[in-house]
Amino acid sequence: MDIYGGEVNKLIEELGRLPGIGSKTAQRLAFHIISMPEERAKALSDSIIMAKKNIKYCKNCYTITDREVCPICSAPGRNHKVIMVVENSRDLAAYERTGQFDGVYHVLHGVINPVLGIGPADIKIAELMVRLQEDVDELIIATGSGPEGEATAMYISKLVKPAGIKVSRIASGVPVGGDLECIDEVTLLRALEGRVYL
Ligand code: ZN
Repeated sequence: MDIYGGEVNKLIEELGRLPGIGSKTAQRLAFHIISMPEERAKALSDSIIMAKKNIKYCKNCYTITDREVCPICSAPGRNHKVIMVVENSRDLAAYERTGQFDGVYHVLHGVINPVLGIGPADIKIAELMVRLQEDVDELIIATGSGPEGEATAMYISKLVKPAGIKVSRIASGVPVGGDLECIDEVTLLRALEGRVYL
């Protein structure tokens, strides 16, 4: 029996598509939104639309930003000769929260995953190679420690090493398949400091 009717069901369904939101939470959120004052609900929906419309990739590191060049790449005092390669912008944010990394990043937007048909050309590896034509001292590969993250790290390492750039891999203090976002800053810092040169 359809208890709520089409519009409410649609809202529950859309919320339920978000990661980590089960059907009970989707219902709870839907009822919360319905009970909001109209301007609050509108502010929420507007912010989703505006973020989607204005967000683009930094033309340097490919993180998600609303500027041509992201705040990190354009910050004075960041060391552009040390580049940390991460899987996504959330991982970048996790490392940034440690407050101890003064280099810059490169966001791959994924990892090589043959099972899902994701090859090197599907992530931002070619863009990384272009950046490495500039004066770079070290590339720190901080992809996840699961098989795909490792394979991606190996692939990049093999590609980059002949160019004479130092390549390091973060220490495996990060749990296998761990979502970097959920890992505390101390662990991330240890992984960074304990990095191994390849
Ligand atoms: Zn950037």
